[in-house]
Amino acid sequence: MSTLPVTPRTRLARRAERGSFDRATIDAILDEALVCHIGFALEGQPYVLPTVHVRIGTRLYVHGSVGSRMLRALREGAQVCVTVTLLDGLVLARSAFHHSMNYRSVVVLGSAQEVTDPEEKRRVFAALLEHIVAGRSREVRAPDDIETRATTVLSLPIEEASAKIRTGPPLDDERDYAQPCWAGVLPLKLTAGAPLADPALAPAVGLPQSLQRYRRAR
Ligand SMILES: Cc1cc2nc3c(=O)[nH]c(=O)nc-3n(C[C@H](O)[C@H](O)[C@H](O)COP(=O)(O)OP(=O)(O)OC[C@H]3O[C@@H](n4cnc5c(N)ncnc54)[C@H](O)[C@@H]3O)c2cc1C
Repeated sequence: MSTLPVTPRTRLARRAERGSFDRATIDAILDEALVCHIGFALEGQPYVLPTVHVRIGTRLYVHGSVGSRMLRALREGAQVCVTVTLLDGLVLARSAFHHSMNYRSVVVLGSAQEVTDPEEKRRVFAALLEHIVAGRSREVRAPDDIETRATTVLSLPIEEASAKIRTGPPLDDERDYAQPCWAGVLPLKLTAGAPLADPALAPAVGLPQSLQRYRRAR
């Protein structure tokens, strides 16, 4: 089991006991999250934009239109902060002050590199689809050369990263435990609804295997 080095930028100051630098813990959070937020600065203005990501080994990949301002900035070597958040519950305390949330989050810092090799880009496209719905990449038309060229793919090493995890009940002040006020955790999770077929679906196309066996990671 490997542990990432703690750097001055990733050392948790607040609630350090909730931090983890264990690679398996970080990987599991990155893999379960469908969406990440990418923070970067452009001409002095910070932006934090949501997008989809996938982890392959020790690298994180994002993709998008060659016209994406965010991807252009990252491609040019901008320092980046990628954050993913899994919300596990609402923590309802006896005092307003101690309300909180249970979560698992990851922050990855660094700078990205462009993936230019078309074969590697195709592997990333397939991994992105697999990240969204396992098995999907084998059910759809793969990207052609034009689509591959029109898509920027960037990769970021997961070398300077931290996880932070809150679990458990509220942590109230001693003076409030006798309060006649309900306290505890309201668990939350992301669940899939029933698939809604595209009204333009070609006749006789049934639900694919990938959706028949679709399960969220938790
Ligand atoms: C759903 C959710 C709700 C939250 N609500 C609040 C809130 O209401 N108020 C509040 O103050 N904080 C909240 N937090 C925690 C918040 O993300 C920060 O950890 C906290 O504010 C400390 O910030 P800081 O800049 O002092 O961090 P520091 O401890 O100084 O951060 C240093 C380094 O620690 C790591 N780190 C810090 N936070 C995280 C994290 N969340 N995940 C992974 N790595 C991290 C990063 O590498 C960062 O560069 C919440 C987090 C989540 C996920």
